[in-house]
Amino acid sequence: MTFNRTRIAPTPSGFLHVGNVRSFLLTREIATATGAKVLLRIDDMDRARAEDKYVQDIFETLSYLGIEYDEGPHDLSEFKACWSQEIRMPLYDAALKALRESGKVFACSCSRADIARVSVDGSYPGTCRYKGLSLDTESVNWRLATDRGAAVTVNRLNDVPINTNLPQDITDFIVRKKDGFPAYQLTSLVDDVHFQVDLIVRGADLWSSTVAQLYLAQVLGYVSFLNTTFHHHPLLTGTDGAKLSKSAGATSIQYLRARGATPAKIRKMAGS
Ligand SMILES: [Zn+2]
Repeated sequence: MTFNRTRIAPTPSGFLHVGNVRSFLLTREIATATGAKVLLRIDDMDRARAEDKYVQDIFETLSYLGIEYDEGPHDLSEFKACWSQEIRMPLYDAALKALRESGKVFACSCSRADIARVSVDGSYPGTCRYKGLSLDTESVNWRLATDRGAAVTVNRLNDVPINTNLPQDITDFIVRKKDGFPAYQLTSLVDDVHFQVDLIVRGADLWSSTVAQLYLAQVLGYVSFLNTTFHHHPLLTGTDGAKLSKSAGATSIQYLRARGATPAKIRKMAGS
């Protein structure tokens, strides 16, 4: 199989860790094997958490480890001038407008605590679905009223497609956050359509996001995205079986480099 384009899409809300590197290396490897170009897309839409030092860390880490990409920014100033998600805000706004006009989004004023009180597994219990709150209310999430019976087809790399219903944890998922900015499921989809990405390599923890984005693509009529091929790779686990994450500071590339870890050593830790 051959593909047009894939992407690595880190979020600049913390220092990169070994788990990120694993995903980057796998993406690069599969791209090379399938003829796909690799786009570096830095997801900086989370305004409260994105920081310049973390954007810098992405460039430094890719360079240190010799992970090559074909498209995207090479330094902070180029990123800010040409590649920040802020630049694509009109595209996200157009998608939100289309959702609003479809009548399929509703305003939700619930806090995390409100949801935790009534939902055993943390999934959204539908509290605000029929409240009729105006979408123009201050500080409300916009949620997509998901259809429980809906199904999507996930095309998988070197494997048969899977038909699946929407997992519970994406019930009525958020498309616009209380701060007024578009949510991850929407920006990621709009970007992948915009950049004509046809291969997505991501960790198995993002399976629900894949289903959410395919469902959203159906609602928005983004037909090209429905043909995207996905590869969900297993996550790295620590020696104690715990999932490696940003909270485990000892796996950040900065930390490892400060203690003398070579690129070869870090690549090995990442399972390459
Ligand atoms: Zn609500």
